[in-house]
Amino acid sequence: MSATIDWHARAAALQPDGRAFIGGQRVASASGETFDKHSPIDGRRLGAVARGQAADIDAAVRSARQAFDSGTWAAQPPAARKRVLQRFAEAVLAAREELALLETLDMGKPIRDALAVDVPSTARCLTWYAEAVDKIYDEIAPTGPRALALVTREPVGVVGAIVPWNYPMIMAAWKLGPALAAGNSVVLKPSEKSPYTALRLAEIALQAGLPPGVFNVVPGFGPEAGEALALHMDVDALGFTGSTRTGRRMLDYAGRSNLKRVYNELGGKSAFIVMPDVGSLERAAATAASSLFYNQGESCNAPSRVLVHESLADAFVAQVADLARRQAPGDPLDKATTLGALVDATQLRTALGYIEAGHEAGARCVVGGRQVRVESGGYYVEPTVFDGVNNGMRIAAEEIFGPVMSVLRFSTEAEAIAIANASPYGLQASVWTDNLSRAHRMARALRAGTVHVNQYDEDDITVPFGGFKQSGNGRDKSLHAFDKVTELKTTWLRIDPA
Ligand code: NAD
Repeated sequence: MSATIDWHARAAALQPDGRAFIGGQRVASASGETFDKHSPIDGRRLGAVARGQAADIDAAVRSARQAFDSGTWAAQPPAARKRVLQRFAEAVLAAREELALLETLDMGKPIRDALAVDVPSTARCLTWYAEAVDKIYDEIAPTGPRALALVTREPVGVVGAIVPWNYPMIMAAWKLGPALAAGNSVVLKPSEKSPYTALRLAEIALQAGLPPGVFNVVPGFGPEAGEALALHMDVDALGFTGSTRTGRRMLDYAGRSNLKRVYNELGGKSAFIVMPDVGSLERAAATAASSLFYNQGESCNAPSRVLVHESLADAFVAQVADLARRQAPGDPLDKATTLGALVDATQLRTALGYIEAGHEAGARCVVGGRQVRVESGGYYVEPTVFDGVNNGMRIAAEEIFGPVMSVLRFSTEAEAIAIANASPYGLQASVWTDNLSRAHRMARALRAGTVHVNQYDEDDITVPFGGFKQSGNGRDKSLHAFDKVTELKTTWLRIDPA
């Protein structure tokens, strides 16, 4: 069906609703203020979005608290919450085309990826937590005959979620799935650069049977709506995904307010290491290129530092350069396009600035490096590969968040590990080798939340996602995500002797 859709006609007819969603209803911001949202694909104005501020956040938190205290959701049996969340996930899939189009128009990713990845991953995440929640048992501690100690999980209460624009729906779902399944109420603040799908998700959830007030969405800017949510005295836990710079602020906000639990999922500069005993250099090169250029390079786990053994580096660079040349940015609404637009003019300037920094530092730009499709009115950068990079250069040290690959050469395993670990980030890493002991040895030595061996992109909701070091402290996905949205309670009962 979607193969024959005229996405341009649909986009022209779309009139997205940018009002906030509080207490089960669409509402204007308390001040009446809005901001204009433009599409990065061609600069078109998509509409006016409510400019949420402290009063709107306060209304949303009050609504979330009332819903939580009323027990309409939190006191439901897990199997009942499961059924609602399953209906929510099914409704997301039923709205697949609308949600994919909104995502593409909002942040510039190719429509094919929004359809094939973002919508189904969102639904899968919701379904997985729905299915999990009536299969988790609590604990009885081994205290001996004189006591019965129950260790139970309770929902933490009101969960604040602040998410970025690179995978707007998936990042929202990673917060929503465990939080809602566990019985919490949620106030979600989407990025000002991608507010629309979060707002639609809230409407869809209500229609699927989620009680009003359980899931609220307040769009707005970080220093306004985001700060108000993170400082709010009645938010119990805060799940943040975004830059390390903003993550630092989250800890500060918590310290200045109610010490809410803060879980940060932050940036990365992941190392992709190709050892001399790699089984297939072609597959390594193809995986590095597809993983880095996917989503225009705007992925927290993009393998943006590619470390290649010196004996293979020339051949590897030739292969990734060839793949980059064949992946020109195109119209995101064209189903053949695999590389879309960067999210906005700021991100475009950042990417071009790093490319300039790479030239100035003396790295060799093998392919790409230019802005293209300027006439479209959108923000497009060619897939770019720098060779001859060293770890001290800014393009190797800092997160670019654009389609820019840095290739670094090394000569020994110890050197590769040292370079990979010489970063303030520790989100992911990848090792390419056919030597089993080396694979395990290096996986243990690499300081990263996920280490891939002979692959990069395969991933699943069943495993935790998060980073070491300044890539964050929380873990999204898997059953471990319940730790962030639940409190452990001990109930100790004395048993008297007969
Ligand atoms: P960002 O930090 O600029 O913004 C993220 C969110 O925080 C947005 O909703 C924004 O409005 C809000 N915000 C910004 N300033 C704020 C402030 N002063 N107070 C409160 N809220 C504020 O990040 P971004 O540019 O939207 O996203 C890109 C970053 O996200 C990258 O660093 C990327 O690596 C990271 N990311 C991490 C993961 C992960 O799971 N580790 C996943 C996706 C993206």
